[in-house]
Amino acid sequence: MKAVIIGAGLGGLLAGAKLTKAGYDVEIFERLPFIGGRFTNLPYKGFKLSTGALHMIPHGSRGPLAQMLKEVGADVTIIDSQPMAVILKENNEIISFHDFRNELTLTKQVKLGTVLAYSLKFKPKSDISFRDWVLKYFDDEFLFKLADSFCGWALSLTAKDVPAREMLEIIDNMYLYKGSGVPIGGCGAVTDALSQIIRSNGGRIYSQSCVEGISIENELAKGVIVNGKTIGADIVISDIGHFGTSKLYECKDKEYLDKISNVKPSKGIKICLSSDEPL
Ligand SMILES: Cc1cc2nc3c(=O)[nH]c(=O)nc-3n(C[C@H](O)[C@H](O)[C@H](O)COP(=O)(O)OP(=O)(O)OC[C@H]3O[C@@H](n4cnc5c(N)ncnc54)[C@H](O)[C@@H]3O)c2cc1C
Repeated sequence: MKAVIIGAGLGGLLAGAKLTKAGYDVEIFERLPFIGGRFTNLPYKGFKLSTGALHMIPHGSRGPLAQMLKEVGADVTIIDSQPMAVILKENNEIISFHDFRNELTLTKQVKLGTVLAYSLKFKPKSDISFRDWVLKYFDDEFLFKLADSFCGWALSLTAKDVPAREMLEIIDNMYLYKGSGVPIGGCGAVTDALSQIIRSNGGRIYSQSCVEGISIENELAKGVIVNGKTIGADIVISDIGHFGTSKLYECKDKEYLDKISNVKPSKGIKICLSSDEPL
């Protein structure tokens, strides 16, 4: 069976590694001159700058991403970070994220524990935002700010933009797997390990190869078009998101197109600091 993958980001490479290991003939097409998308390092003045991700593996060495890397045999060492984040208080005091409860009265601590235990078991089915969910149970300025900065840190969105059920999934995973980890060698080490697995299992990764279209037959994806040439496949996987993918074929599903046009992209500015000496 042949699979073609559009985009060699973390998602495309993970899918490629899994498929080559399962015996698929895999070809990955990447439009940029480098592979890894938003999850690799580029050299800059002797330092390695990440193209996006902050070199953090969500939920550390036991989390879902670490488990997937292990499953495909990626040779990556993940160091769990402690603390996973800190909070800068208005009086400039810095506390560990894990100690945020100490900022609440005892009554609020008990209420938070009860509400969380209930909501993690019975996650809201509605689209209620994380902000409104916090508002529903608590009248506490500190918790509002914490909810906002947590969403900003984790997703580059505000608590108003994120459905409560998604944030509760993340909190659930934090209890289950704990905080983030850092891969030795940064994000680049992860994507390098994946591309090595793909290549050693016979897969091919082409950089500077932009997919111009998806070829459709009888409403099924049957291949991709690169440099005007159709490359046929049994499976077509897209790693470029709903919006980018919908531009590669004539999508007639208006409801789907309306839905994806309303998705709010996350926005953030990342500042990278480098030091010649250990900090
Ligand atoms: C500032 C920032 C910090 C982040 N921090 C973290 C973090 O610490 N930890 C973490 O886990 N995640 C982090 N993330 C998120 C993480 O970077 C992304 O979730 C992940 O890299 C997305 O991978 P992907 O494969 O889905 O998409 P992408 O990395 O976007 O890969 C898609 C690839 O497809 C290619 N492509 C697009 N169109 C075409 C086409 N037509 N033909 C061929 N190729 C095409 C693109 O060039 C790209 O290489 C961060 C993101 C940002 C922006």
